[in-house]
Amino acid sequence: MLNVPSQAFPAPSSQQRAASGGRSKVPLKQGRSLMDWIRLTKSGKDLTGLKGRLIEVTEEELIKHNKKDDCWVCIRGLVYNVSPYMEYHPGGEDELMRAAGSDGTDLFDQVHRWVNYESMLKECLVGRMAVKPVAVVKGILLKSQVSDLPAKEISPSYDWFQTESLVTVVIYTKQKDVDSESVIVDYQDGSFRAEVVIKDHSYLLHTELSHEIQEDITVRVAEKTGKVEIVLKKKDNVSWTYLGHPLENHNSFTAYRETGLYYRKCQLISKVDVTHDTKLYCMMLPPATHLQVPIGQHVYLKQTVAGTEIAKPYTPVLESLNSDLQEPLHPPDKYIYFMIKLYHTGHFTPHFDCLQIGDYVSLSSPEGNFKKSQLQELEELFLLAAGTGFTPMVKLLNYALTNITSLRKVKLMFFNKTEGDILWRNQLEQLADKERRFEVEFVLSEPTCEWTGKQGRISLPLLSEFVKRSVEDSRVLICICGPAPFTEQGIRLLKDLNFSQEEIHGFTAY
Ligand code: FAD
Ligand code: NAP
Repeated sequence: MLNVPSQAFPAPSSQQRAASGGRSKVPLKQGRSLMDWIRLTKSGKDLTGLKGRLIEVTEEELIKHNKKDDCWVCIRGLVYNVSPYMEYHPGGEDELMRAAGSDGTDLFDQVHRWVNYESMLKECLVGRMAVKPVAVVKGILLKSQVSDLPAKEISPSYDWFQTESLVTVVIYTKQKDVDSESVIVDYQDGSFRAEVVIKDHSYLLHTELSHEIQEDITVRVAEKTGKVEIVLKKKDNVSWTYLGHPLENHNSFTAYRETGLYYRKCQLISKVDVTHDTKLYCMMLPPATHLQVPIGQHVYLKQTVAGTEIAKPYTPVLESLNSDLQEPLHPPDKYIYFMIKLYHTGHFTPHFDCLQIGDYVSLSSPEGNFKKSQLQELEELFLLAAGTGFTPMVKLLNYALTNITSLRKVKLMFFNKTEGDILWRNQLEQLADKERRFEVEFVLSEPTCEWTGKQGRISLPLLSEFVKRSVEDSRVLICICGPAPFTEQGIRLLKDLNFSQEEIHGFTAY
């Protein structure tokens, strides 16, 4: 629903524009650009009509503000008066009006979850939605609140105990498919936050601890029972009488997408050239954070540009594809690698590229809809990547080759403009030499006359030859990622080739 309000954002050629499902953009009037909006928000003008007062908004009140010149919208519990912003919104007034006087969270998430509306609209904040009474009994949510949960009803709960030097927080998820990747723990400025992702839901503990702790936190998961133990080291060996003061959404169990993105500050450790315009960046998580980005999922990186926070999604990769050829430079659980292409006129990447080693950038919790279970008992894995659409394939092909014993073949078809654009070409060729199950094929759209390989764009003839099953009825998965039109066209062609929905996974923003 909302967008970064710049006339040229995303640019006409921008991949983000295509990714947002062909939303129409309206021409903005002179003096209604992003910078004009920032100037207006900093001018001290009363943009809410409430003279700086924040109020509690009931549903009845919200509904009343549904006109262009009096338009309130609720996003994740916060209510904004978006009327002053109407003329600056690249999607136009009509798009904003779709959420007038109502909860626009879903609409917002559908279109651009990565836009930092809190920062963009902070001067338009009217207040919070009035809270309805919540039915919590002894820290366990009542069944009625989890009615939209997957088949088996689950009500996670928690407990804690202590020794002289340790505090152990135990979360009983009662789910079998919880693993270390499902648990995200942060401790920042006295606030302890532990989130367990259970299918499409998230159980959250969020408290201001009663005493200080040290920064090394241990997480243990008993996968069979779904019991999660988070071991905290006390700073002082004193007895705690209570765990802490509950903070926002403590002991809540909600749909993951409703929880909002949580960010922590990470430090840039290294940046290394991959090609002429793409670099491998290594980020270090804070010492008291436990976070592992699952295969096929992405995070948002966020930085402040011209006084406004901008966040964009990026898919972590490995330090290298041939990890057994060299010792990892950094232990994998504290470091996250990103392969990021620089767009000189982009809104985010030029600023990101200016970061110096040691600088900080905010990194969100992961999201994405790829599940490792899609790889179970797989016999053939086909990967179709274009440009930086290669990034989700990195961990995926490494995991598949290492862990899926049924796998007979992994084939990557990698589309790029020129030879100089191919990411990790040497590593891919080395892997293909070393690993007989892996094959790679490069396709160039702008080759030189010396190029003897395949050329062109994604097409039926290219695909029909490439994604052939080697055995009739073999269990296959085809993963595709690149510019949104590339991914969409690829999926259409694969369907024309009679692959089923379950056999195709397109990587998209959500
Ligand atoms: P944008 O501002 O979005 O611009 C993008 C394009 O528009 C560029 O071609 C730019 O040159 C052009 N442009 C911008 N402004 C103008 C202008 N005024 N006039 C003309 N042209 C203009 N990218 C990666 O590199 N690595 C990843 O791992 C990765 N993972 C992703 C995961 C997901 C789920 C998604 C959806 C995207 C991912 N991306 C990744 C893309 C990334 O999120 C950004 O879209 C990308 O980095 C561009 O951001 P930007 O703000 O710098 O460019
Ligand atoms: P690029 O260099 O512009 O293009 C890479 C290749 O894709 C080129 O061969 C190009 O051919 C082809 N291509 C581009 N648009 C196409 C289209 N409409 N139809 C068919 N082929 C097309 O790519 P890039 O700049 O690296 O961009 C990568 C994209 O991947 C970005 O949009 C990024 O958002 C996306 N991405 C998504 C994820 C995710 O998880 N969803 C992860 C990483 C990256 P031409 O030369 O003919 O254009």
